[in-house]
Amino acid sequence: MTKQELNELREIIERRIEETKEEIAQLKELTKPVAPDNAIGRLSRMDAINNKTINEASLRENKSKFQKLERALERLGEEQFGDCSKCGESIAFGRLKIMPWTTRCVRCA
Ligand SMILES: [Zn+2]
Repeated sequence: MTKQELNELREIIERRIEETKEEIAQLKELTKPVAPDNAIGRLSRMDAINNKTINEASLRENKSKFQKLERALERLGEEQFGDCSKCGESIAFGRLKIMPWTTRCVRCA
């Protein structure tokens, strides 16, 4: 991988970390305990609970993505970064741009 590609990847990862952070902050707000029936009415409370379940799943996903991105950023400085952990070939740059945390090429994934 060229230095330019590494820099590009670093920018992508940093940007996505920021985006994920914001997403997590918003989802934390949305997954706060739902107000009791008498405060918002029964039907809207059920809606709120359903949404909360969806948002909680999304929060978990984002947290795991966040960790993967952080790890990718750490590994970016390592010499073998961008090489497939199975066959040793270079992982396609386009693939790394989409999933910077991947350690395998398309064939070995
Ligand atoms: Zn491979």
